[in-house]
Amino acid sequence: MQLTKTDFIQYLNCSKSLWWLKHEPDTYPHGEFSVFLQKLTREGYEVERYVRQYFESEDSRDVDFQRVFETDDGLFARVDALERGPDGEVILYEIKSSTSVKTDASHNHIKDAGFQKICAGRAGQQIDRVYLVHLNGEYVRNGSVDPVALLTFSDVTEPVGNIAGETEVEIEAALDLLREIELDREGCSCLHKSRGNHCDTFSLFNPGIPTPSIYSLPRLSAKKRTDFIVNGIFDLHEIPDNYPLSANQKIVVQAAKANAPQINLDEIRDFLATLRFPLYFFDFETYASAVPFLDGTSPHKHFPVQYSLHILDEDGSLTHKEFLERDARLPDRLVEQMNADIGQVGSIVSWHASFEKTQNREMAKMFPDKSDFLIDLNERMVDLEDVFKAAYVDARFDGSTSIKKVLPIICPKLDYKDLYVQDGASAMVSWERMINTDDKEAAQIASALLSYCERDTFAMVEIYRFLNELTHDQS
Ligand code: SF4
Repeated sequence: MQLTKTDFIQYLNCSKSLWWLKHEPDTYPHGEFSVFLQKLTREGYEVERYVRQYFESEDSRDVDFQRVFETDDGLFARVDALERGPDGEVILYEIKSSTSVKTDASHNHIKDAGFQKICAGRAGQQIDRVYLVHLNGEYVRNGSVDPVALLTFSDVTEPVGNIAGETEVEIEAALDLLREIELDREGCSCLHKSRGNHCDTFSLFNPGIPTPSIYSLPRLSAKKRTDFIVNGIFDLHEIPDNYPLSANQKIVVQAAKANAPQINLDEIRDFLATLRFPLYFFDFETYASAVPFLDGTSPHKHFPVQYSLHILDEDGSLTHKEFLERDARLPDRLVEQMNADIGQVGSIVSWHASFEKTQNREMAKMFPDKSDFLIDLNERMVDLEDVFKAAYVDARFDGSTSIKKVLPIICPKLDYKDLYVQDGASAMVSWERMINTDDKEAAQIASALLSYCERDTFAMVEIYRFLNELTHDQS
């Protein structure tokens, strides 16, 4: 059975899931190879093309791409690039589409490169130096892509060498695991980790954990999580009333125990009192790519391509405005239209407003003549999500304040299930497709994008109305 670099990283994150994938691929929950993951894969190949261009522009470099190394005990490495220097020195290049060398548990580039070096070494190819090739986050495209300016070569020979011993041991342990013929299917190590670490198989290895559970508690410390687990407490109802929790955690527990939302009407009233009519419910969709495809943009830097705007007047009348950029171009026309659609008075209501504010700040740099307008928008912007952090908490939100979690509980008749585009990541991929396809398909995609963005701002209107009625009903 083969062990590749990807397998090895999966082993380091979760040995059980690797065993399952390798031994029982038919029942392994692969998850969806989403359109967004497909985009990331395409971008990886695109970066590799620029690395090839970089080396090919220098005649004297002797570089092989995609050289394969295999060992009898199952190690398999396809090395991105391998160079033989004029003095016989052999350099291994590991190519990444990120803008830095990552060393966190789920993306440890040093371990990636270390695995490749060890595999090549065991297959008889000595490696003298190791480089990670990644994108330069400061690069700004101007004309055709310049591989020299786009790429950053980081010498990681030393850090890879420093972990060589432990990586060898881990590789042996991974090979041993793959030789095992049965898997202990009871429990898994993520039981002690926060929900962000859990994969799709968590509930299969840990059946009987309810939703919501202790994993729904916001910012629960590892110590408290362990405390609950050793005492067999997973259900929020079983947490003792006097157990020390933060205010935000306590509210979630109270909501679960009461089987009803916990509502702080005074706080909601205070929030609503800050709003000034007309209310502009506003949402951007953005685009970003690893290799910038427009002049003036940088790797992985988002820029708005679309917005939806619902305007609610004090008398209750509601109007909708929207903009979708249908060409590959910077958001100059988008900002012009925003300027025409948004008046000088009134609150800008957003959800997770820090994202919209960042886009406005970036566009203010891009279009200095619109800077005053964009900065003023940020000063008038309020975040509707804030209400759901402490003033209105329902255990059915499952510890999240995302609009996709809150909306179906607050407004059960309104969700995203009927839409072709259902989240921001697929909106980004759809926009890319729209600007690269024929008119007929482009029109269909445009319609789907407009419907999705409109749903986001209409959802905010409905949630605002719900809060408004709630405070009036109970006054
Ligand atoms: S939830 Fe369990 S199976 Fe999934 S990654 Fe974590 S330890 Fe592995």
